[in-house]
Amino acid sequence: MTEDAIGVIRRDGRTDPFFDGAAEDRLMTRRCEACGRWYAPDATGCAGCGAGDLAWAEASGEAVLVSWAVARSRTGPPAPLALVELAEGPWMYARLASVAGPREGLPLRVRFVHPDEGESHPVFEERRG
Ligand SMILES: [Zn+2]
Repeated sequence: MTEDAIGVIRRDGRTDPFFDGAAEDRLMTRRCEACGRWYAPDATGCAGCGAGDLAWAEASGEAVLVSWAVARSRTGPPAPLALVELAEGPWMYARLASVAGPREGLPLRVRFVHPDEGESHPVFEERRG
């Protein structure tokens, strides 16, 4: 692994569907089956209705940029890390492709990286058109 960035989701058993989805170019996140609210992939319960169990659901992959930082890694190139707001509502941490002028509210679309080593993962890049 070359990523030391804080906040990026790691495979830990509980988040396997996220990474299995990424391997198939699908952005999987959490949704409450009881009330329909969407949550980040690492959410554990529904703050809206109190349900303790969240289902996995496929998000559209469209998002806007909320904030970003360049995470310095000891072993790899600098990796822009972003906090994005998915079109469905939840915020999640993800990697950001190099965009020319990052700004709050920048429209983004997900694509997936399938490295030779390590997990497939989403990267958000600027959405055009
Ligand atoms: Zn709920």
